[in-house]
Amino acid sequence: MIYFSAMAADPDLWLPLDADAPRRPAMPFHLLAAAGHLLRAAGREVADLVLPPACPVCRVRLGSPAGLCADCWRKVRFLERPWCERLGTPLPLDLGPGILSAAAVADPPIYARARSAVSYEGPVPDLVQALKYGDRTDLAPMLGAWMARAAHELVADADLLVPVPLHWTRLARRRFNQAAILSREVGRLTGLPVATDILVRARRTPPQVGLGRDGRIRNMHGAFVVPTARIATLAGRRPILVDDVLTTGATLEAAARTLLAAGAAAVDVLTLARVVAPR
Ligand SMILES: [Zn+2]
Repeated sequence: MIYFSAMAADPDLWLPLDADAPRRPAMPFHLLAAAGHLLRAAGREVADLVLPPACPVCRVRLGSPAGLCADCWRKVRFLERPWCERLGTPLPLDLGPGILSAAAVADPPIYARARSAVSYEGPVPDLVQALKYGDRTDLAPMLGAWMARAAHELVADADLLVPVPLHWTRLARRRFNQAAILSREVGRLTGLPVATDILVRARRTPPQVGLGRDGRIRNMHGAFVVPTARIATLAGRRPILVDDVLTTGATLEAAARTLLAAGAAAVDVLTLARVVAPR
């Protein structure tokens, strides 16, 4: 049931990770997904006929769907080098390769490296909202391409992509997991397999809003689990954890800790956006 609603958007997301596992999902799921996909595609075409494509942020009319208007595009702050090798946060000066930020030295995360495509500012919070709650999954190819570009170094060392899971109650309400949808796009562009069943939510966590870093870490304790059946798949491998936004990193730390405890060799983190200091 969980996978059913999580992955209705694409039958690929039901596939098990193992390369030698059958590449074909069970028939009823497959047919249902195909039907759902066609209905959604038809719905989108009808919507395009009735409502011309608009910028998902400012609603200005566009010539083609699934993009940003020029004004909003200009306001997107892409994260570029020089950045902290560990946290992927921009640095004011290029002091050569391997430089770490003060934050990475003072309080290193449990994951090896984090990379994010853009800063969580300007039009980006609206884009994330549109993807997450506005059912604008048509934005995923563009956002996934941004992420694949940011993940360039991580991909070279990685074995698989692991989306940060939602608790099933949240999933049921939202109907899809934005992290899984973004993972699918990154997987398509990088060739990395997407494993949606390797990390699951063990319990529902209260919202993180208003909690400090310590509070968030306590809040996330024991939130994730690797099912026993998937431990062998993870052993000695290097996953990239994928999520939409990195704020304090408490969720990603908890998820990475769980993967490491289950035998992952190392864990990197990739998000669409992250909160960074103003320029
Ligand atoms: Zn716009």
